[in-house]
Amino acid sequence: MLCSFLAVVLNLSLASDVNAQGGVRTGYDAVGFVNSPAAVVIDEKSTPTLDKMDRIDFVTVSTVGASRNPMTKEEIDEKISAYGRFDGPEGMPFDEYREAMENVWANVTDYAHKAEKVDVDMTKAYRYSELVGIMKSLSRYDGVSLYEIGRSTEGRTMYALEIDVPSSAKKKTVVLTGSIHARETAGTTYLLKELSDLLSANTAESRSVLSRIRFAVVPCCNPDGREGVAFDTRAYTTSDGQLWKATTNGTDLNRNFPGLVWSQVASGNKKSASVAKSPRGANYPGDHAGSCAETRALMKFLYYYIAVEKAPVLVDYHQQGRLSYAGKPYSTTRQQNVSKDMADKMVAVLNRGNRHNYASLSESADYGLNGTGSTLTDYACSIAFGAKHSTSYGFCVYVDGTTEYPLCAIRRADESPVAQQELVPGFRSITIEIGYGRQYLGYSYETRRLLADEYSSRHFDRLLYELAKYSDGVR
Ligand SMILES: [Zn+2]
Repeated sequence: MLCSFLAVVLNLSLASDVNAQGGVRTGYDAVGFVNSPAAVVIDEKSTPTLDKMDRIDFVTVSTVGASRNPMTKEEIDEKISAYGRFDGPEGMPFDEYREAMENVWANVTDYAHKAEKVDVDMTKAYRYSELVGIMKSLSRYDGVSLYEIGRSTEGRTMYALEIDVPSSAKKKTVVLTGSIHARETAGTTYLLKELSDLLSANTAESRSVLSRIRFAVVPCCNPDGREGVAFDTRAYTTSDGQLWKATTNGTDLNRNFPGLVWSQVASGNKKSASVAKSPRGANYPGDHAGSCAETRALMKFLYYYIAVEKAPVLVDYHQQGRLSYAGKPYSTTRQQNVSKDMADKMVAVLNRGNRHNYASLSESADYGLNGTGSTLTDYACSIAFGAKHSTSYGFCVYVDGTTEYPLCAIRRADESPVAQQELVPGFRSITIEIGYGRQYLGYSYETRRLLADEYSSRHFDRLLYELAKYSDGVR
């Protein structure tokens, strides 16, 4: 199964090289990314990425299909009995999984206008529509594509930017995500400012970064929640004065992904009391894994760039705590160690010349196992070490060819039968918790001012450069 999947991807990589030479977008000039009107050949509908996605059967490659020897309910119960019991909601149903993986992206890159520098003013209160306007402006740079990747629960379009200047199948891909938690508004504006400044810098260093690294970015993972907290603040403040993390239907998107923990929940067990039983401002994992449209859109985005494009690096922007959490204790030791290494290096950049330092922490050994629901990075790490959707269980499993193993039956990827066949060996993921204290949450003028100051004093303007330098050494 794994071998045939690799063969498919290998073929596609070769096809992609041909594609890049054949030229859907061949407007790169000598410096690599400035629009050159001569010899620009543009197909307004497709891109190498969309062509490639078109040829992949995402459902088949990401689902345990051949094996029909699942563990029995009793066997699972025995494996997970150490965690206690919980009659919780279900795992992700196959029809919703298929919907997520069959979702077709639309290319909405702005080919019509010449790129101009976009100033992202972090003290300004941007509506989501204005942030989308910034994304569209950034897509005017040659080599930048803007994709519609799905719709939010309230019907807002969700977007991914791909920065591939100039396009090359040999580049390393760095995945960046922001603002999955409603009150954590900084991720979106930080990412847009970092990208805008990188694309417009036109220095030897910026050109070098762009020539070596492909960035795949969802600046705003929770558009409804962000808009609610930012512009309907009172409605999304709990009775004890906390701004919402959840999206506006009361589901915490960063607990809604299928993965290790959902496997436990679906199997009827829960350890932590921190999981909410009903929709509210935080920590409600949803009716079932992947129940939110946003989660499903993000699942395909992550699957494509991590499992297919083999992105070795993911950074997820959160607030607050001046922390970077690294890796997953239940993933492979290698994933865990390289993630901690990346967190240490990035934190060193943020701390340069500062007091009240950012700290680098491994995620606690309990976190992935305590029944709170799987996060974006849980899902990303799971697919990187080869977990797949199971129609038997409705959540990610390992398979050794004959037997399907739910993640909860393994506890650590190292102990899995497929640990030696990681899909993306050396994959590393960190979250960065921007700022420190409740005053850094939300979108008031005071918060925006603090976040703008944090951006410059903590060298976030350097982060993409440092990530690129770091990713060069990743194997
Ligand atoms: Zn968060």
